[in-house]
Amino acid sequence: MKEKSMEGLIERWVRPEIRALSAYHVPEAEGLIKLDAMENPYNWSAELRDQWLQRLRGVDVNRYPHPQAPGVTAALRRAMGIPGDAEMILGNGSDELIQMIAITLGGSGRVLLSVEPSFVMYRMIATFLGMEYVGVPLRRRDFSLDPDLLLAALRKHEPAVIFLACPNNPTGNLFREAELRQVLEAAPGLVVIDEAYAPFTDASFLPLLGRYDNLLVMRTVSKMGLAGLRLGLLAGPGAWIGEIDKTRLPYNINILTQVSAEFALEHKALFDRQTRAIRGQRQTLFGALQGIDGVEPCPSEANFILLRLVAGAAPAVHAGLRERGVLVKNLHGTHPLLEGCLRVTVGTSQENAAFLAALKATL
Ligand SMILES: *Cc1c(COP(=O)(O)O)cnc(C)c1O
Repeated sequence: MKEKSMEGLIERWVRPEIRALSAYHVPEAEGLIKLDAMENPYNWSAELRDQWLQRLRGVDVNRYPHPQAPGVTAALRRAMGIPGDAEMILGNGSDELIQMIAITLGGSGRVLLSVEPSFVMYRMIATFLGMEYVGVPLRRRDFSLDPDLLLAALRKHEPAVIFLACPNNPTGNLFREAELRQVLEAAPGLVVIDEAYAPFTDASFLPLLGRYDNLLVMRTVSKMGLAGLRLGLLAGPGAWIGEIDKTRLPYNINILTQVSAEFALEHKALFDRQTRAIRGQRQTLFGALQGIDGVEPCPSEANFILLRLVAGAAPAVHAGLRERGVLVKNLHGTHPLLEGCLRVTVGTSQENAAFLAALKATL
């Protein structure tokens, strides 16, 4: 087919809101210290790897996996302390769960609401599904919720679903529980608390499951150290979970993920040690950043720290860090409240030291 006619076809048939998007871009990280994607920096011992591979040897890849993945569901329930009376569904990462929720509640004229700046997939998935997206700005000073603004937006837009990441990405802060409860009480539809960073904070809404008819909690194994498996969970009242489960594609959790996650969660204590170490490193890194002129780190309850640099410096500092072998996320230009901001994932003590040295050399 000639290129010209293909362009014409694309223009005629690809939905305008999809054509207007730019594809999710993951930068090349070959050979760099990778502090841009909130990954756990610790890998497994050779012995643990051998045990894991042994387990994988028994897998029959010619067969479909178990459609409900009961083994890994039970392991997740135990590992994450999901209340006994809450139901669960699993997703291919929490991204897929966001998509299932939006498919269940979406459609034209339906609104998906979140705060800004926050996780970009909420807006992206709303767009994919033809929902209207509303982003309510956080407070400039400390990225806290602005309850008056939020409650006014609820009355005005009557969102089918509200997503709130707590701790929030990319800002790292928690929202106040009293304010989140206000949102739960005022929301006309579903409220999903996204606890992707639960391993790095003591706060959680899991104990409140069942106390509100419209509360669901989402978790993932990605940030605790299993990002490669792509596995997330949604927990809440059975009636909601049953409806959302109807949109799940058959066998969405593949057999390698099911077996590997079950194996990994038998070693939960290892991940707890790693995430505790990351929390300790976070404090050390935060203190070091506070001591650098021209850098303002934001307090974080997650495994990353948002930094604000002096006006205009962020793009050059981001490039300078890269030249010195350290990859962080440049957020400058992504949202007005993130002007001059970079986000650095907390790595090992060596990686954090290399980042700090590169930062000082760049500034
Ligand atoms: C990283 C992240 C996720 C994505 O989790 P996956 O399970 O890897 O898809 C979800 N929500 C927030 C807020 C995140 O930062």
